[in-house]
Amino acid sequence: METQLFIVPTPIGNLEDITLRGLRILREVDFILAEDTRTTGHLLKHYDIVKKLVPHHQFNEHKAIVNVISRLKEGAKAALVSDAGTPAISDPGYLLVRECIKEGIQVECLPGPTAFVPALVNSGIAADHFVFEGFLPHKKGRHTRLSVLAEEEKTMIFYESPHRLVKTLLQLADYLGADRYASISRELTKLFEENVRGSLTELAAHFDKKPVKGEIVIVVEGKMNVKA
Ligand code: SAM
Repeated sequence: METQLFIVPTPIGNLEDITLRGLRILREVDFILAEDTRTTGHLLKHYDIVKKLVPHHQFNEHKAIVNVISRLKEGAKAALVSDAGTPAISDPGYLLVRECIKEGIQVECLPGPTAFVPALVNSGIAADHFVFEGFLPHKKGRHTRLSVLAEEEKTMIFYESPHRLVKTLLQLADYLGADRYASISRELTKLFEENVRGSLTELAAHFDKKPVKGEIVIVVEGKMNVKA
């Protein structure tokens, strides 16, 4: 069976970070489902690709899926891209993939950029077992999640917005311990990429000095079980 929906990861900052196959697929499909047609438009322009862009984001996802599935059933081929990185990783994608599987439509996700992998590797924290937490809940469920994570032994990975970074680091310090080792990756693959490592309280103090800008991944060491 031939693939009809391609999930295509796109750069998280550096436009060179897209695979040759990703570019070929974007050229070959009938249309591209894009989280933000303007952002994807810039990428396509950079690579001289002219293709129909169809908005597909968290606010129209449920409705849009019905139409996409019927076009794929008619034999069309499509690519799904998000603003940056791999679709379905803290981005729309999961619902469409699930529906395609249900409908017997062949789906294929290309390997490619995603922010948490370079952040994890840059951290120097154990990468053999980890949990990807994405964004912590902002309000409801936040304390419950943090309490559960206090016992987590695997390396933990979080996405966070710059204006919440210090608050989150201080809360993580409260729940997981002030000395817990962590690493912050900011603006990965971009001109001002920064990777800062230290205890949660050291990191909170570092980023509290001036307003934080850019995109952030937090990697935190798991709880160490000291056996007697
Ligand atoms: N789908 C994306 C992926 O595969 O990583 C994630 C999309 S999510 C809406 C956006 C979050 O990813 C940002 O708030 C930040 O936490 C992280 N992120 C994306 N690009 C980044 C970058 N260049 N440097 C650091 N973090 C980044």
